[in-house]
Amino acid sequence: MAAKSLGVALVTGASQGIGRAIAQRLAKDGFRVALNDIPKKEQELKSVSSEIEQQTGSKPCIALADVSNESQVEQMVGEATKAFGGLDVMVANAGILHENTKIVDLSAETWEKVFAINARGVFFCYKHAARQMIAQGRGGRIIGAASIAGRRSGFEHGAYGASKFAVRGLTHTAAAELGPYGITVNAYAPGFIASPMTTGMTTSALANYGFITPENFKFGEPKDVASLVSYLASKEAHYITGQTVSPNGGVYLN
Ligand code: NAD
Repeated sequence: MAAKSLGVALVTGASQGIGRAIAQRLAKDGFRVALNDIPKKEQELKSVSSEIEQQTGSKPCIALADVSNESQVEQMVGEATKAFGGLDVMVANAGILHENTKIVDLSAETWEKVFAINARGVFFCYKHAARQMIAQGRGGRIIGAASIAGRRSGFEHGAYGASKFAVRGLTHTAAAELGPYGITVNAYAPGFIASPMTTGMTTSALANYGFITPENFKFGEPKDVASLVSYLASKEAHYITGQTVSPNGGVYLN
């Protein structure tokens, strides 16, 4: 059986990749977890839920929602809160990659789509998690997905990089505004992590992004990001807020 619960954590985009690893890690740490993804990923979410239940003895709840839709995000936060009696950690992880398009060829539709999920979606998650945490009055942790592309954007991913810079800006403002409520707000900015998002990307292609590739550089694993999120979500991390931390294996030194 799971040890005494550390609280309730909601992870968006949890059916695969980094989100799945974060949900597994937070459940292992002792959080009750709520798993989100878009409705067409329901079967995958059920598999992640079963894995977590087997590993920890604690059954997650599933809260389907498209994070770019505000009423769905509000409902998702409500479902997690109702299932487990509150919300202590929000991980706004869901995002989409768009690359290989120069700015001169980038359409307004693509820009809007990337921003709708990567920036507006994170905004809605921060906003509704913060409202719930403020109402509860017991502090909290809000953590968002940026990227090294949100630290230094390079060739042919103008919309993606700009959307991840937006996450950093939002994280600063949210940290400043929510500090008085005992809520910390931070972001993770992964480098190149092996996940469905990066399938097909090779280390030799990284030069296109303008990053250095240290000798013998290998893609990181989703668990390399999950361990950072585990720390940021912990009580111990109470003095860290407004930061964007980059697990990237040395491809970008900041
Ligand atoms: P992934 O594509 O493997 O998984 C993303 C998940 O988000 C998917 O399950 C997808 O269905 C879900 N999702 C997409 N749109 C959604 C929406 N509107 N509402 C709810 N869920 C939605 O990606 P990943 O590699 O696991 O990346 C996770 C996060 O980390 C993303 O924000 C990504 O931009 C960021 N990131 C990843 C890397 C990397 O190398 N993999 C590097 C930097 C940043």
